[in-house]
Amino acid sequence: MDDCLFCSIVAGDVPAEVVHVTERTVAFRDINPQAPTHVLVVPREHHRDAAALAAADPQASAELVTTAAAVAAAEGHAEAYRLVFNTGAGAGQTVFHAHLHVVAGRDLGWPPG
Ligand code: 5GP
Repeated sequence: MDDCLFCSIVAGDVPAEVVHVTERTVAFRDINPQAPTHVLVVPREHHRDAAALAAADPQASAELVTTAAAVAAAEGHAEAYRLVFNTGAGAGQTVFHAHLHVVAGRDLGWPPG
């Protein structure tokens, strides 16, 4: 999709520190990390949010989670990590290409901020 930052990262047109790729997903480090491990897992295809992705491509949706688990394990955090889909501007979504935050490596309080 034109004018989508994460589509540009998937295409390799915008640089990012890619840590894991699969057939349907790309995982790269967040530019503004909120924890020692903060990785974004995105579908290669453009969907505006997690629900739209799940409706259109359940397999890609599941692959976001399995990729996130693989990333957490590779970073030594298989036992404790948080997965977040911010959905909608009111919930803090700023990039409207579905993405799963993988956050780990520090104490993760609850409720989240
Ligand atoms: P959201 O707020 O939509 O849930 O998450 C978007 C995330 O994308 C934010 O955590 C933000 O730091 C990250 N981000 C924004 N621009 C870039 C960029 O150019 N490169 C990378 N790697 N991450 C970005």
